[in-house]
Amino acid sequence: MNKKIDILRTRPSWIEINLKNVQENAQTIMQYTGAKKLIAVVKANAYGHGAVATVKALYAIGVRDFAVATIAEAALLRQEVAYDDFQILLLGVQDVSFVDIMLAYHLSPAVGNLSWLQEAVKSIPEGKVLDVQLAIDTGMGRMGAHSQSQVTAMYAFIQSSDKLRLRGVFTHFATADDSNQQYYDEQVANFYNWVRGANIPNKYWHLANSGSALWHSKEIDIQTLRVGSVLYGYNPGAPKLKMPIQLKNVLSLKSRIGFVHELGVGESVSYGATYTAEKPQWVATLPIGYADGYLRRMAGMKVLVAGHVEHVIGRITMDQIVISLNKEYPVDTEVTLIGRDGQEEITVEEFAEYADTIPHEISTTFSARLPRIYD
Ligand SMILES: *Cc1c(COP(=O)(O)O)cnc(C)c1O
Repeated sequence: MNKKIDILRTRPSWIEINLKNVQENAQTIMQYTGAKKLIAVVKANAYGHGAVATVKALYAIGVRDFAVATIAEAALLRQEVAYDDFQILLLGVQDVSFVDIMLAYHLSPAVGNLSWLQEAVKSIPEGKVLDVQLAIDTGMGRMGAHSQSQVTAMYAFIQSSDKLRLRGVFTHFATADDSNQQYYDEQVANFYNWVRGANIPNKYWHLANSGSALWHSKEIDIQTLRVGSVLYGYNPGAPKLKMPIQLKNVLSLKSRIGFVHELGVGESVSYGATYTAEKPQWVATLPIGYADGYLRRMAGMKVLVAGHVEHVIGRITMDQIVISLNKEYPVDTEVTLIGRDGQEEITVEEFAEYADTIPHEISTTFSARLPRIYD
């Protein structure tokens, strides 16, 4: 087989990622909050934007701490990013039997109970040290120590073991991107009571997710941010809460017209024949469908052709969609499904709102079949 064949050019549907805007968004949120350190959350392939490229771009502006959900996500970064003088925090629960892998890849797991630590030290060889992150559940209800005594016991155990080193102490907010201030305040109070009660110095603390950094930065000690959404330009509180700062859009979704034809009066399009032309109508077929993450519920959504608005007509199929046209366009004409074209723009937020979900679910749902192109 000829490995030199450029397969990318055979796939006229793609995602464009503007890494400069990721860098700018990181700098904007750091300036806005006055934080000194950034833990960039790049789980789920950097929310669908490409974890390896995102890590390299943020590393280039000085970021040295990253967070992922799984060991496989972390291992990929260790394998694909040439330098390794950066930290990787594992946010999700990990089975203690994988401590050897965490040591090999130099990963720092979030740990939520004492028994995990007690088990872990049994399998850490003499002379090796596991960096751990103490997870505190102040109200998210997913994982973590859940009382003053648990936090104190875990901290004491870490300090007493020469096989464990504390890298961070954190909690995760359930309502930071919500107008429920009372619940947020209770979580903050729990955190401060428990970590101060356990005498854990604040150099270890990292509390602020995107919502917290955007809307509560004055209320908590915010030396370290642990954010994802804002790096990719997303408003985590949309559509309810407005952004206090202007972030840059990062992701565009593009395709090219693959087939053009004119429907006659009474002719229909796609499964179920749900769309029928009432007058002669130019239409185009694009090679993208729900298997790429262009969800079935996007039927009727706007798209941009040559700077003006057209719409998806008929049902979305697995690999193809059909769009309306105001006139005949040549095959290969570029179509913008998310992004800017002239005066018109479709943002991920608008796309997500149409799908009745949040931007993160949209960007993480775009499948590997869509190449990511970086600029
Ligand atoms: C996903 C996640 C984050 C990042 O949240 P954003 O709202 O995208 O900033 C931070 N901390 C934890 C524990 C997470 O799971």
